[in-house]
Amino acid sequence: MAPLADRILMGPGPSNPYPEATAALVHPVLGHLDPSFLDILDETMERLRRVFKTSNALTLPISGTGSAGMETAFVNVVKPGDPVVIGVNGFFGERMCEIADRLGADVIRVEAPWGEPLDPERLVRAHPSPAVIALVHAETSTGVRNDVAAVGATKGDAILIADTVTSLGGIPVAIDDWGVDISYSATQKCLGAPPGLAPLTASPRARERFVPRPSSWYLDLTLLSKYVEGDGVRRVYHHTAPAAMISAIHAGLGAVLDEGLDAVWERHRECGQLLQAGLEKLGFELFVAAEHRLPELTTVVVPEDLPAGMDEGAVRARLLDHYDIEIGGGVGQLAGRIWRIGCMGHAARPANVHALLGALGEMLGR
Ligand code: PLP
Repeated sequence: MAPLADRILMGPGPSNPYPEATAALVHPVLGHLDPSFLDILDETMERLRRVFKTSNALTLPISGTGSAGMETAFVNVVKPGDPVVIGVNGFFGERMCEIADRLGADVIRVEAPWGEPLDPERLVRAHPSPAVIALVHAETSTGVRNDVAAVGATKGDAILIADTVTSLGGIPVAIDDWGVDISYSATQKCLGAPPGLAPLTASPRARERFVPRPSSWYLDLTLLSKYVEGDGVRRVYHHTAPAAMISAIHAGLGAVLDEGLDAVWERHRECGQLLQAGLEKLGFELFVAAEHRLPELTTVVVPEDLPAGMDEGAVRARLLDHYDIEIGGGVGQLAGRIWRIGCMGHAARPANVHALLGALGEMLGR
């Protein structure tokens, strides 16, 4: 077996596709009160604004994984009884419903079959005056891109929440131009750092509607803003900043911005296209129609003619053990039915795509 560090990560897993963040982590970690660390925190927030394409002052890394970002978004703007329209065409839209339901919202689900995009018009017409409309930009469970810009253009008075966990740094995201009020992401997908933080941005409009004393103290954005922005005089301690993780995302974002957002998006587009064309050439059926596919997350229907004695899990295990390549299985209602192939961040390289196509072709005799 190759050293773990040599493994190719084509989906979420144990290998290390985060070279810049790893380099940052091997340096001595600065104390969380060190003025130099606070400069890194400020610069991280500025880098996040550039990647989110926003001028929102309140743009910060939430301490926690992507789900903490999701919970932060909802808990700060949803009150019991609020009509909250949620687009559901995959596992993470379902999770949004669960969170809004726990907050006592009147959840209005607008569904599309898993593997198909949401209809923006149905979302904005689902309720005459929703407090919030929420959807996932890049549904990692299916590989579908939902049209956030179209919802933002017609959202009316609602607060628009967009999950950009699998899109930020992989495909175009433009928070201000699209009229998104709150968006959150995660470090581990296309931003080049290990899991552990949820970058989040909130517009001035969203801030005007923040719930006073939300039910989560830890995720209270009003309190958090007093730490990251200060109270006009100085930072007000809220919780100890996870200094190592912030150094990691600072480095990951630096790499993204050094390459340039346009170049990063183009690299993902090219690799996604190469992968998807290669899979089709090998005779695989892709789960999503070409016009709605994500380049950074490709879903493949598990073929019925797998070699004798092999199921889809055995194929993934063999890819990992013999080729040092990791791909993901299906989740939720797609468990066992699809493979999910990530081609994200640093891992989105033609060499990785060719390695995976070669391995699949060899293993499955295609
Ligand atoms: N939203 C989307 C679209 C995701 O893909 C994920 C995780 O993969 C999440 C939210 C939750 O993020 P995490 O698992 O980092 O908590």
